[in-house]
Amino acid sequence: MDLSLADILAARKTIAGMADATPLVPSPHMRTVAGQEFLLKLENMQPIGAFKLRGALNAVMNLPEGVTGVTCCSTGNHGRGVAYAAGLRGLRAVICMSELVPQAKVEGVRALGAEVRIIGQSQDDALAESQRLVAEEGLVEISPFDDPFVIAGQGTIGLEILEKRPDTAMILAPLSGGGLAGGVALAAKSINPRVAVIGVSMDRGAAMYQSIRAGKPVEVEETPSLADSLGGGVGLENRLSFPLCRDYLDDVVLVTEEEIYHAMQTLYYEDRIVAEGACVVGIAAMQAGRLPKPRGPAATIVTGRNLDMSQFTKIINGQDIALGDYRIAGKAYR
Ligand SMILES: *Cc1c(COP(=O)(O)O)cnc(C)c1O
Repeated sequence: MDLSLADILAARKTIAGMADATPLVPSPHMRTVAGQEFLLKLENMQPIGAFKLRGALNAVMNLPEGVTGVTCCSTGNHGRGVAYAAGLRGLRAVICMSELVPQAKVEGVRALGAEVRIIGQSQDDALAESQRLVAEEGLVEISPFDDPFVIAGQGTIGLEILEKRPDTAMILAPLSGGGLAGGVALAAKSINPRVAVIGVSMDRGAAMYQSIRAGKPVEVEETPSLADSLGGGVGLENRLSFPLCRDYLDDVVLVTEEEIYHAMQTLYYEDRIVAEGACVVGIAAMQAGRLPKPRGPAATIVTGRNLDMSQFTKIINGQDIALGDYRIAGKAYR
């Protein structure tokens, strides 16, 4: 593994002034649940509404001169980041997304001036289209998680957490392809090896969890989830984010859709924050008692706010939610 803290420090310089150093705020309610101070890293406040801006900017700004356009597959937020970063450099951007990606995310990408291709039923289908564009149209692909610049960009979140709060004992990172959790773990443990970094995924289609258990990247079935941003595989050819997560994460825990539903209500009613299902998995895991008791302040990354508002208002109102064939029975908050 040749990624190091130096790459993350370089990424911070590259993205400064474009991605924000977001606030790290205490959640008084979650403190009572965790029995320790509980901090929220508010990446929902980034210019594109998600942390993915960091990695996308670092990757796009490091492209050599002469590149004319970029492409990627995305569950929505990486596409937004790449579209935004490409716009800053005046590059063409073609974002490939599957039919599972919510309409609100598709429109968000389009609004940034990128071309959008909707293709197939999975991230793998979207990736295949992106790779076709590389071969046929000479675009450069920017992986959502398996790219050293992307991982280093996401890792800047770990730097900011530990610089603001060197006493942080546990970081909870929403986990999908592992660019975020891998980068944050590398940053945090390079600064303080005693910080526990735990990845959290939904139990429906947890690709990195299954891959770590299998000892190699494996395919998982992709199903609709409240945490739609955590969908998709880790890539059978994964080079970087799989070994990083395998070697640096202390644990990976899974949460149910019902726990995510409850955590979205919690963050809204207790902290007045509107956030995607993917962002609240750390809160869900703590509330459901799936984590060891933190030995000091715990922090979770509120990764983004780009959700479908009609689904969100149903959750806030305690109504039922349909995810394909799966139904979540509604429940009013408290
Ligand atoms: C992409 C994403 C994640 C997970 O990041 P990975 O690097 O793929 O593990 C978490 N939350 C949101 C909102 C995302 O868009």
